[in-house]
Amino acid sequence: MNSEIENSILILGGGLIGLSIAYEFARKNYKVQIISRNRSEAAGFVAAGMLAPHAEGLEDDLLDFGKASQKLIPEWIKNIENDSGINCGLKQCGILLPFKSIKNLKKFPTYEYGQYLNQNDLNREIHGLNKSWKHGLLFAQDGQIDNRRRLMRALEIACTVNNVKFQEGSEIKEIISEKNHFVGVNILNATGETQSIFCKKAIVCCGAWSKQVVNEIPIDPVKGQMLSIQGPIKKLNKILFGPKTYLVPREDGLIVVGATVEKNANFNKGNTPQGIKELQIGINSLFPEAILWPQMEHWWGFRPSTPDLKPIIGESKIRNLFIATGHYRNGVLFSAITSNIMYKFIQNEHLKESEQKFINNFSLKRFSAIS
Ligand SMILES: Cc1cc2nc3c(=O)[nH]c(=O)nc-3n(C[C@H](O)[C@H](O)[C@H](O)COP(=O)(O)OP(=O)(O)OC[C@H]3O[C@@H](n4cnc5c(N)ncnc54)[C@H](O)[C@@H]3O)c2cc1C
Repeated sequence: MNSEIENSILILGGGLIGLSIAYEFARKNYKVQIISRNRSEAAGFVAAGMLAPHAEGLEDDLLDFGKASQKLIPEWIKNIENDSGINCGLKQCGILLPFKSIKNLKKFPTYEYGQYLNQNDLNREIHGLNKSWKHGLLFAQDGQIDNRRRLMRALEIACTVNNVKFQEGSEIKEIISEKNHFVGVNILNATGETQSIFCKKAIVCCGAWSKQVVNEIPIDPVKGQMLSIQGPIKKLNKILFGPKTYLVPREDGLIVVGATVEKNANFNKGNTPQGIKELQIGINSLFPEAILWPQMEHWWGFRPSTPDLKPIIGESKIRNLFIATGHYRNGVLFSAITSNIMYKFIQNEHLKESEQKFINNFSLKRFSAIS
C-alpha cells in the first residue's frame, strides 16, 4: 500500500471548518490540499466568534457537542497559536443575557447552567445597561475568540506551516466517482481552466453552499448582517446577549454587533438599510450610550443551516467522500470538536461512546426520508 496516497486528503472548501479539519490532518502527517473558491465569502470571517453553548441556549446533543468542543478549544488554540505565531484572542469573558421577566428567564433552555442576577447585580456587572432589563443570567463559562481578525488568519498560517497546499480561487464543479467510490473533483481554477484533481478521500466543507457541490446535503443559507463600533477600552467587559442583538467586546474596545437572521434572503449579498437599522435598535435596547460610538465596518455572511439546525458530520452516499457542514450559528464553537472527530472517524480510530453518538446523531442518513 502506498502510504502517501492513503494519507492524502482533499478538503473541499477553505472556510472555518475546512481550515480546522485541514490543520488536524496535516498535523498528523497527512498530505492535505484545500480547494476553495473565495476566502472572503467564508462565514468564518463573518462570525462574532462567541463560544457560547450555554448563552445560545443549545439543547440535548447540540449542547453536549458544544460543551465537548469548549473543553477542547484551549489546547487546540494553543497549538494554532504556536504554529502561526498569532494570538487568537481567546477569552472566557462570560456572557450576560438580560431578561424583562423572571418567567422568560426561567424558560431559557440552559437556565440551570447560569447565575441569576437581579437588577442591582445586573447594573453592577454592566454600567450603562438599558434600565428596562430587570433580571439576568450570567454564563461565566462562555466566551469568545477573535475569528474575523485573528483565528482565520492563524489557521491559514498554521496550515501552511504544516505543508497544506492551498488552491484558492477554484470552484468545485463536480464530484467524480467510480462505482460509488470517490476519485476526485472537476474544478474551474483561478485562471478559468477546467481541471481534474484526483485523490482517494475528500471532505465537503462548503458551508452554506454545500448543496451546490453535493445535491443530497440539505443546507440552506441564513443570512446574517453585522457591524462594529469602536468603544472605549474595557468599557464593556462581558458579552451582552439580548434577544435579537448581541454586543461582543474585543480587547481593543472594538465591539462586534450582530446579527440579523434572514431565512429568505437566499445568497443576496450586501448590507441593507433595514438590517443596519435592526442592529442599531438592538444596540439602543441593550446599551444606549454605545449608539453614539463611531461605526467602523459593516458586513454580512451566510450561516449553513440544515432542516433540524444540527450539523452534518460523517459519511456521504459516496464512499470516501465525507461531509462536515451545517454548523449554522455555532461553527466557531464547534470547529475544535468537528476537526477532532472527523480525523478519528476517517482514520478508523477508536471513538469514545459520546463521540460515536455525535457521529450517529449528526449523520446525513437522518435526512434520508426527505432527501
Ligand atoms: C452573522 C454570523 C454570525 C455568526 N456568529 C457566530 C458565533 O458568534 N459563534 C459561532 O460559533 N458561530 C457563529 N457563526 C457561524 C459560523 O460562522 C459558521 O457556522 C461557520 O463559519 C461555518 O464554517 P464552514 O467552513 O462550514 O463555512 P464557511 O466558513 O462559510 O466556508 C465555506 C467555504 O467554502 C467555499 N466554497 C463554497 N462553495 C464552493 C465551491 N463550489 N467550490 C469551492 N469552494 C467553495 C467558500 O468559498 C467558503 O470559503 C456566525 C455566522 C454568521 C453568518
